[in-house]
Amino acid sequence: MTGKRKNRCSFCGRSEEEVALLLSGLNGFICDDCVRQAEQIVHENMGSKVRLKTAGGTGLDMNEIPKPRDIKAFLDQYVIGQDSAKRYLSVAVYNHYKRLSQPHDDEGVEIEKSNIIMVGATGTGKTLLARTIAKLLKVPFTIVDATIFTEAGYVGEDVESILTRLLQVANYDVTATERGIVFIDEIDKIARKQDNPSITRDVSGEGVQQGLLKLLEGSIVNVPPKGGRKHPDQDYIHVDTRNILFICGGAFDGIERKIAQRLNTHVVGYDSVQNQQRIDTKDLMKYIVPQDLKSFGLIPEIIGRLPVLTYLDPLDRDALRRILTEPKNSLVKQQIKLFAMDGITLSFEEEALDYIVDKAIEYKLGARGLRSIMESIMIEAQYSSPSQQVKTLSITRQYAEEQIEKQKGKLIQS
Ligand code: ADP
Repeated sequence: MTGKRKNRCSFCGRSEEEVALLLSGLNGFICDDCVRQAEQIVHENMGSKVRLKTAGGTGLDMNEIPKPRDIKAFLDQYVIGQDSAKRYLSVAVYNHYKRLSQPHDDEGVEIEKSNIIMVGATGTGKTLLARTIAKLLKVPFTIVDATIFTEAGYVGEDVESILTRLLQVANYDVTATERGIVFIDEIDKIARKQDNPSITRDVSGEGVQQGLLKLLEGSIVNVPPKGGRKHPDQDYIHVDTRNILFICGGAFDGIERKIAQRLNTHVVGYDSVQNQQRIDTKDLMKYIVPQDLKSFGLIPEIIGRLPVLTYLDPLDRDALRRILTEPKNSLVKQQIKLFAMDGITLSFEEEALDYIVDKAIEYKLGARGLRSIMESIMIEAQYSSPSQQVKTLSITRQYAEEQIEKQKGKLIQS
């Protein structure tokens, strides 16, 4: 009998018929199962070493990583103004990549992590900045809202669930998670209510800050893989937070008063008159220092772990007007695209756009209001135009006014 010898996997011995795929090498074969197992073993044993060859597992060469100026230029396409915050963010993200690419065994200078805190009124673009930067990032990124946390023992989520989300984004790849970036929104909502520690525990205040501190400091944290409250029967995933970059944002309503108080006490001195003249009382936020966060109720340990402090400017009329048209996916561009899909060329008269801004200011809705005002103006045209034979549509101030008048009640509520 001269039957052909069966090809077999040189690792598990199974024949071609028993496996889905058999790959041949110079002197042997390997099946798909063994490839997968081998990959896992490589991953477990040398994950960090292999990844460090490229910029810390970012899959990029240090030369390919966008420089701070490039990151800012990217942010400029979507976010109007906020130069200071953009610069700080760009540098922080760039440094994060640099940190990740330092070899573990490097005995020289260790680059420390620079978590960031951004302070600015609601609707000035904090979340937008975080979301925009996420588009550019080569590491896992997630946004969480600090208000969902409560101290362990109370209803709500544990602080560790922040890492559950990051794990999920990273498809449960722990090494990738440990290099990720987390944006914690509304950090001001977990501020201590009084300046001095309270005897009665406040549900979502200092306790949550203490929990958060553990993550910010860099420690091995037991993370429930499915999130929610910790459960004794659940297996935890251990995540090292040393290299995770935390960006926090908050409105810190009323912090200007703390800033003003501090500035007032400081200017009482021999050159007080000179100092007072230099202070721009309309925009106190730019004078913010870490001490003001403490007066607001963040514990000093947390502030210490958020060494980069930046602020967002309030949006004035000019900024609101630019937001309507300039960003890459501005509200005006979106409307034009929507109508173009029906073969209609849409345009807005300048006066109509000025009117939208006026209304956003009048209703004190800020940048968020621009959208609801735009929607209210456009709903009628969006409804009827597709069934009509119109080819062009120009939104005039008068048309905008009429549409808003019709829906005034609704808008004021929103
Ligand atoms: P915050 O997080 O500061 O409360 P957001 O980033 O959620 O505010 O802003 C709300 C919306 O307002 C955004 O989705 C965006 O449409 C618009 N917006 C706010 N600030 C800006 C800005 N500086 N540039 C462009 N759009 C902005």
